[in-house]
Amino acid sequence: MSVYTGEVFEMARTQFNRIADQLNMPVDERDRIFYPKRALTVSCPIHRDDGSTMVYQGYRVQHHLTLGPTKGGTRFSNNLEIGEVAALAIWMSWKCALAGLPYGGAKGGVCVDPPAVSQRELEAISRRYMQEMIPFVGPHTDIMAPDMGTNEQVMAWFMDTYSMHVGHTVSEIVTGKPVASGGTLGRREATGRSIVYLAEQALEKLEINPRHATVIVQGFGNVGGYATQIFHEHGAKVVGVSDHTAAYYNADGLDVPALVAYGRKHGVLKGFSTELTINREKLLTQPCDVLVPAAIERVITEKNAGSLRCRVLAEGANGPTTPEADTILDQNKDIFVIPDILCNSGGVIVSYFEWVQDLQQFFWGETEVNDRLAQVMGKAFAQVTARAKAENVSMRTAAMAIGVEKVQLAKRTRGLFP
Ligand code: NAD
Repeated sequence: MSVYTGEVFEMARTQFNRIADQLNMPVDERDRIFYPKRALTVSCPIHRDDGSTMVYQGYRVQHHLTLGPTKGGTRFSNNLEIGEVAALAIWMSWKCALAGLPYGGAKGGVCVDPPAVSQRELEAISRRYMQEMIPFVGPHTDIMAPDMGTNEQVMAWFMDTYSMHVGHTVSEIVTGKPVASGGTLGRREATGRSIVYLAEQALEKLEINPRHATVIVQGFGNVGGYATQIFHEHGAKVVGVSDHTAAYYNADGLDVPALVAYGRKHGVLKGFSTELTINREKLLTQPCDVLVPAAIERVITEKNAGSLRCRVLAEGANGPTTPEADTILDQNKDIFVIPDILCNSGGVIVSYFEWVQDLQQFFWGETEVNDRLAQVMGKAFAQVTARAKAENVSMRTAAMAIGVEKVQLAKRTRGLFP
């Protein structure tokens, strides 16, 4: 029996089993590679603004520590479950291995709806969560980063809480911090930038000029918001965007600067326009060159996978496509899938750069960060496309096979302790 349950965890397991079969992995090696090394659940009590006490449930899952410390985001979300956190930690492992980073995967989070608490309450939850995590994390054990519902400010509170405990500043305990607190230039935009970079490479392979491409983005947070802006800056036509409150579509192109300004002012997209409104699910099946799911898991399913009308599916979110949808997409040679562990890896790659800079206390310029990001992403993209071609498998199978194989090899060569 495992504590990890739920459809997101089962999805990670199905994906892994497919790859393990593909790699002819011996059965007795599979559990050792798939199951998380360890997990911690914590209760985070805080005083609410009305004087009452409220307890928030928190988690952290470390998948494997074979290649170095674990690395992964912290999600603040109302319905968070440990099985979902474990799946995200497992995906992080394949992602880090694919990019050649010296990390295993981790993930964590708190069951809280950030818009439902005040800024002071959010700070109290963030600090208490990190306080509870101190015995479990460390700059050479497990390094946190932002994910859905958290941001640079939350990372600064985490770093401050950890540093106050230790007695000196430990900026390398988290990444995705504000630049003013030891963060790196380029981290904020990194995930969006990596999505645009790879989508453009895929378009070129399909002989579509990226400057004439049409784009739809689901999710307007850190990942989707920056991806939208960078596509627009590069000359692509953004025809659709959505967040959890609204979706807009205009075949002639949306006014991206106005959407960004509206999102900054109101925090959500609802109320931006009445004429351009479209059903959120329908937005995903509108014609476009690039579709970017950049919000939550399991939005491309067996129900809509056959109706997608994009040429490139650039997965900004983690786990946006179910294994059932994958089976349908595998048969559709018209859609070029850039799988999540490749497509959104810009976030963890620049997080790695941030950690390295913090450890050395030697900081790089933004151009250096972006150039190095392009170098790592370009290499990973070339490896995945070459393997997909050579073995006649999907891009996801090729990407995961490379990641899983690296973890497998590291475990084999280190052996089993004691
Ligand atoms: P965020 O909290 O900044 O933004 C999430 C966005 O998704 C918000 O705009 C929200 O309104 C929207 N959303 C939620 N439910 C939706 C729905 N049903 N339909 C449409 N939009 C919806 O989060 P983020 O950091 O941008 O992360 C988004 C995804 O990208 C997550 O899957 C995350 O794990 C993944 N990711 C994030 C990073 C990073 O650097 N932040 C890196 C790699 C992957």
